[in-house]
Amino acid sequence: MTLLGETTSPQLANAVTQKGPFTLLIPLGSTEQHGPHLPLDTDTRIAVAVAQGIAKKWPQRSARLVVADPICISAADEHRGFAGTLSVGTKVLSEMLVEIVCNAGPEFERIVVINGHGGNAYALRAATDTCSARQRPLEVWSLRLDNADAHAGRVETSLMLAIAPQLVRLDLAQPGAPEPLTELLPKMMEGGVGAVSANGVLGDPRGATAAAGTRLLADLIDDAVNQLTQPQRRTENQTQPEYSVND
Ligand SMILES: [Zn+2]
Repeated sequence: MTLLGETTSPQLANAVTQKGPFTLLIPLGSTEQHGPHLPLDTDTRIAVAVAQGIAKKWPQRSARLVVADPICISAADEHRGFAGTLSVGTKVLSEMLVEIVCNAGPEFERIVVINGHGGNAYALRAATDTCSARQRPLEVWSLRLDNADAHAGRVETSLMLAIAPQLVRLDLAQPGAPEPLTELLPKMMEGGVGAVSANGVLGDPRGATAAAGTRLLADLIDDAVNQLTQPQRRTENQTQPEYSVND
């Protein structure tokens, strides 16, 4: 029993009776442009891959952990203007997460969002604050890598080559804005990604490989398992409300 959506309600109830309450992972992705070479569901697929990887490595063989279906449309207003991008915005996303967590039954002792999209940071911060105030904690693990390019670059392209290579159009991969995110941020905050990159890429996807993606994914899964199995570290990766890598 790993995928909540494939589990029946009595199955879950019986398992909880026998073993105790479960940890619920909710992958949180995005539907947003990822340049000419990656699909719009890139962040969702990465979040799902990390969540399923966590389930495989979870102590006691996922005995008390289930992975929900992903939330695929989130806060991606910064990609407005690129065809296919969908967004509910920060306020609605935050409220939705609060409702999901606070309405979840006692069968879930922990609820953890596995976030693949940096643009969700404000919503996650607001939701975790509200959930804490309501005594129903929401935990967050967000994808972040040191020295990574920001969007649809080598990191995300490598991850996608490892996760869904059939969806990567490497022949169309072109560099986008090469500057560090800190330099791009002021313009992006005002005019979105389109103000700094005509093709929607922040970084350079050339040189991405499936082997690098496989290593990156393993590192991300290890990082998440470490965070989630060490009680004192559970809140350390709460997403900061600033634009972060891999949005
Ligand atoms: Zn992305």
